[in-house]
Amino acid sequence: MNNSAKLRIAIQKSGRLSEDSLQMIKECGISFKNGIGALKAEATNFPMEFLLLRDDDIPGYVADGVADIGIVGENVLAEKQRDVVVAHKLGFSKCRLSIAIPKSEPYEGVHQLDGKRIATSYPKILETFLRNNNVQAEIHEISGSVEIAPGIGLADAICDIVSSGSTLFTNGLKEVQPIFQSEAVLISRPDMAGEQRALLDKLLFRIRSVQAARNNKYILLNAPESKIEVIKSLIPGMKSPSILPLAEPGWVSMHSVINENDFWEVIEKLQAEGAQGILVVPIEKMIL
Ligand code: ATP
Ligand code: ZN
Repeated sequence: MNNSAKLRIAIQKSGRLSEDSLQMIKECGISFKNGIGALKAEATNFPMEFLLLRDDDIPGYVADGVADIGIVGENVLAEKQRDVVVAHKLGFSKCRLSIAIPKSEPYEGVHQLDGKRIATSYPKILETFLRNNNVQAEIHEISGSVEIAPGIGLADAICDIVSSGSTLFTNGLKEVQPIFQSEAVLISRPDMAGEQRALLDKLLFRIRSVQAARNNKYILLNAPESKIEVIKSLIPGMKSPSILPLAEPGWVSMHSVINENDFWEVIEKLQAEGAQGILVVPIEKMIL
């Protein structure tokens, strides 16, 4: 065990998780120097060390204590079944694992898979799905290019990550059954304590602020005084909106925070209530 208070974080070296993982770290205000091809890097302004690895190895490295925390897809986490905990969901690298069959075949439900051979790189996730659905199928584990298995007679169906479906299509397959939803998560050893736990909490606080900022916008608008109450109810913000008098009598400027999810709907309602000169600006960080 390393007792110096430092967080070792395992990140995918190169792949679909890498860029967003590094971007998140950067927006948390953590900088590091990284030589091309380096497997390790040290943060310059936070007690953190980066280990750059294959994503498949990350749950194991964290479980074994080589790294304290890591960023990995829930799909890999569920497949590896290691003793780690999810500290926080990160909201990027969203994807799903699905079963696909030859596109010429009709699909009438999971029981059609009874007695079939299914090729996958995710045998454990698939096995759980089949068991929960009382389906008896033969699982063929293969590590890459799963989608060619039916074409070469190795399997009747596949279970793999689907994004656009175009890879499936070019291999004569169609998605018929989603079985697992995934996004990137920050994982940690279950037993983090003391100074390291405090460092993890510090990092989590920053991550939450970054995520909140991404999900919210700062909004400024002009409104007639008579509309203050109704507009206040539309943009309540973190506590309540700021209200400043305008030079023009009977008018105010209102400032608040608005959530990305119901953004356009609220804007339409504000306009209907007579709001004018609406400005919406990004928030750099949002401290909750
Ligand atoms: P490595 O070389 O590190 O083993 P890999 O080829 O196994 O990489 P990637 O393709 O880089 O893995 O995918 C990493 C993770 O990103 C996946 O486990 C999954 O969680 C997520 N992911 C995969 N495909 C997509 C996609 N199309 N869209 C979004 N996220 C995805
Ligand atoms: Zn991998």
